[in-house]
Amino acid sequence: MQRLTNKSKIASNKEMSFMERIYLPAILSGMKITLSHFFKKPATFAYPEKTREFSPIYRGRHVLKRDDEGRERCTACGLCAVACPAEAITLTAAERKAGEEHLYREEKYAEKYEINMLRCIFCGMCEDACPKEAVFLTDRIVLPEHKRKDFIYGKDKLVESMNNRIDVSKRQIKKYTIDK
Ligand code: SF4
Ligand code: SF4
Repeated sequence: MQRLTNKSKIASNKEMSFMERIYLPAILSGMKITLSHFFKKPATFAYPEKTREFSPIYRGRHVLKRDDEGRERCTACGLCAVACPAEAITLTAAERKAGEEHLYREEKYAEKYEINMLRCIFCGMCEDACPKEAVFLTDRIVLPEHKRKDFIYGKDKLVESMNNRIDVSKRQIKKYTIDK
């Protein structure tokens, strides 16, 4: 017979002693281990009330930035999609119409911009490729979903809201410092 592991247990017919039969020493020794954990620093924490501090170079979900006047920075050049090794980015360009200058900074903008978070490997190459500082990876995580289609983030999830702006300046400064 082929043995899969070296683990083995020898069964014994030896009669249990009185102390073994009452199980008390075994219970007390188990409780001792449990009690000792009360005095140790817990390995767990109360997520989501508390979160661990991420590394400054952590690359999480993307944001499509607006400029200080609230206009979308992306000019739909497609460089991020070309640079993406996972082919996770899909976009279509449209021309800015008269009267839309307050919405889009450039004459061309992304009418549709999608990132498939199931494909993305968070390499940051889209961020590096972008000539308009429009797409950045942030310290935010991609939340769990039940359906695969919900992992395809469109502009509704990616473009930052002016009421809740995402600060990427630390990340930019850090990157600059590292590059130097
Ligand atoms: S982080 Fe990398 S894999 Fe993800 S969308 Fe950007 S370029 Fe593609
Ligand atoms: S995010 Fe940047 S690289 Fe991508 S299409 Fe927009 S402007 Fe071009």
